[in-house]
Amino acid sequence: MTKDFSKLSKRTQLVHGGTRRSQYNEVSEAVFLTQGFVYDTAEQAEARFIKVGDDEFIYARYGNPTVRMFEDRISAYLGFEDGFACASGMAAVNGALTSLLKAGDHVVASRALFGSCLYVLQDVLGRFGVDVTFVDGTDNAAWDAALRPGTRLVFLESISNPTLEVIDLKYVCDAAHKVGALVLVDDAMATPVFSYAKACGADIAIVSTTKHVDGQGRMLGGIICGPKDLIRGPIEAYMKHTGGAMNPFAAWTHLKALETMELRVRAQATAALQVADTLAGHPKLNAVRYPTHKAHPQYELACAQAPFAGTVLTIDVKGGKEACFRFLNALETILISNNFADAKSIATHPATTTHQRLPQEQKDILGITPGLVRLSIGLEDPADIVADLLHALDKA
Ligand SMILES: *Cc1c(COP(=O)(O)O)cnc(C)c1O
Repeated sequence: MTKDFSKLSKRTQLVHGGTRRSQYNEVSEAVFLTQGFVYDTAEQAEARFIKVGDDEFIYARYGNPTVRMFEDRISAYLGFEDGFACASGMAAVNGALTSLLKAGDHVVASRALFGSCLYVLQDVLGRFGVDVTFVDGTDNAAWDAALRPGTRLVFLESISNPTLEVIDLKYVCDAAHKVGALVLVDDAMATPVFSYAKACGADIAIVSTTKHVDGQGRMLGGIICGPKDLIRGPIEAYMKHTGGAMNPFAAWTHLKALETMELRVRAQATAALQVADTLAGHPKLNAVRYPTHKAHPQYELACAQAPFAGTVLTIDVKGGKEACFRFLNALETILISNNFADAKSIATHPATTTHQRLPQEQKDILGITPGLVRLSIGLEDPADIVADLLHALDKA
């Protein structure tokens, strides 16, 4: 059975929350690598299919003790009643949207979205008759103009990937709730440690746990957190029948990773701010952006919402793609890759990789320039990261 750790501090909850011990009373969480569960009698099987009790399971696509430990620990940490763990962040985004929408529904979404989120909203939901209005998420008046009575749902990234636009989340939640819309926040960039989704009134937070929860480049995962009636209602029903559940080994890795998440993310966010501060004003750069650094155009809003804005900053290298590639190719410690939130620092060139397929006019609107580099700051000594960046900038 689970103990109630909800009165202890958040950091303690990351170590103990949701723990369910087996009959062996193990210290470290057990990994239940099992698809199914045995019933003592036919009557017990029948009863479980009528109603599943708290510590009862049927099939790993529906739920599993290790997965449930992870769901309980992370959803309570984020301030939500419950969560459904998914195979990836995109399984979570797709599952949350598809389970809550039907043909004819109206959705308002911010336009600065991760490419796969844009695909789900534009291509998938569009094909099934959902009407999606995209707005400049940083413009409160644009949200007001797009929301209408009967709008079913709002979808946004609290901090956009890769352009680090910040949304006034309290404002958007209030405006959405006035017309009866649910607010779904993709909280990947904000990080679970500095998340303000619940505090600002979001109904559902979706986290790609591939990012800061795993934090060490190993596992894909995602979680949909929200009120029990939605999570164990339409969301669980959709997820369990369509096969997007998290596997138990990923859940176990995630549980162990949660134990160190605060320490890792605080160190990485502190280093990201330090790197932004060191690079600001560098002669080879057009811009340096980190939302809680004073050079960001939305600095005050970002600081009002959280002390740190994640572990990612962007720089815009002068001299277009050629100079930018010279810079990237001169990096020695920082890796060229397309993920973020790893323990290893990573540089990404969105215009030619993650956002390559976006039409040029869309890139222009979003600010994905040929010189834009997304820098994910890892757990190395920040002095080494700064030295690597300065050396590579010399070569740009
Ligand atoms: C990475 C990411 C996702 C997708 O997560 P996966 O775990 O890779 O499926 C969704 N939204 C945002 C904002 C992301 O950064």
